[in-house]
Amino acid sequence: MSDITFQSHTPGYWPDADQDDWDNHVWQLKNRVTSLEGLEKHLNLTEEERAGVLLSGNKLAMSITPHFFNLIDPDDPTCPVRRQVIPRIEETLTDPAEMSDPCGEDSHMPVPGLVHRYPDRVLFLVTDRCASYCRYCTRSRVVSGVSEQKLETQWEAAFEYLEKTPEVRDVLISGGDALLFSDARLERLLKRLHAIPHIQFVRIGSRIPIFLPQRITPALCDMLKKYHPLFISIHANHPKELTSEVRDGLGRLADAGIVMGNQSVLLNGVNDSVEDQKDLVHKLLMCRVRPYYLYQCDLIEGSAHLRTSIQKGIDIIEGLRGHTSGYAIPQYVIDGPGGGGKIPVNPDYVVKHDDGGITLRNYEGKKFHYPAVSTSPIDVK
Ligand code: SF4
Repeated sequence: MSDITFQSHTPGYWPDADQDDWDNHVWQLKNRVTSLEGLEKHLNLTEEERAGVLLSGNKLAMSITPHFFNLIDPDDPTCPVRRQVIPRIEETLTDPAEMSDPCGEDSHMPVPGLVHRYPDRVLFLVTDRCASYCRYCTRSRVVSGVSEQKLETQWEAAFEYLEKTPEVRDVLISGGDALLFSDARLERLLKRLHAIPHIQFVRIGSRIPIFLPQRITPALCDMLKKYHPLFISIHANHPKELTSEVRDGLGRLADAGIVMGNQSVLLNGVNDSVEDQKDLVHKLLMCRVRPYYLYQCDLIEGSAHLRTSIQKGIDIIEGLRGHTSGYAIPQYVIDGPGGGGKIPVNPDYVVKHDDGGITLRNYEGKKFHYPAVSTSPIDVK
């Protein structure tokens, strides 16, 4: 059933927490759930989850902020929040099509930490840490710091590369999550990028507004608004994640003039229904966030249990287009495996296209013909 209310789940599993502590992002980070013992204190785990927690230690760390943990159903292993952050034994199984670097980022780094795949924009990986870790993370080969590969960003070499590469007009800061930096450290980074004349704008990819809305302080927003044009791409997958605290944090960012889009990942058993996607996009718009991309889950190792069919993604877009506002509809994309970049995938609305014009079907299945441009001269008197 549709639910577009914004609820607070505080204090949830932390009834003794002081409100000032709860609202402090440092307290939230210090009290993250990172162990099997911590999970079992509150949740009834399945064997698959217990084994997953024990075996995931050198793949991708487990870490869940109290804020996000409060959204987890203690008894339901199919809970859409639980499936995103609690490891399962299936993560240890690797499908032959899966890769450790499914977007081919490592082979497009002119400087360690700086991915330059498209001519006019770069991806700047500035940290390997996040507030919580998503089990399907595309960058799990480096994110969280427990696997063998390490992120070793060469800061000065990256800035020098950007300064001498005038075709770069757009820098996407990601990682990991740069909003984990202190205000001062983040400002040093933004200031340095802002000083490069050919960089027109900066984007930050962050799941902090969802995992840790307490980090979106007025002081952070006051600092960010000095570096416009600034875009933030958030990452919410299920309507339940949009709590009243998240809505308020996003409101502060919007009030600071930051343009926000949402990138969600289509995940089996999490958000693979038209109903959940519709609630998600409607709540995002109410938070002044434009649904931007719906990603087919990348072929990251150990993610088969979280991936859906492509048809499922197409059916979801079909279930949105025409049935809600155009602003609410994200672009469904597949990141071309191995480094092909984002490729849009859409339902097929073209029935026939030839020299006589195009025949289309609309969202109700009705057909319409749009004629080709006439090649005969127009008689203008
Ligand atoms: S927040 Fe982003 S970078 Fe961090 S674990 Fe999740 S998907 Fe990966």
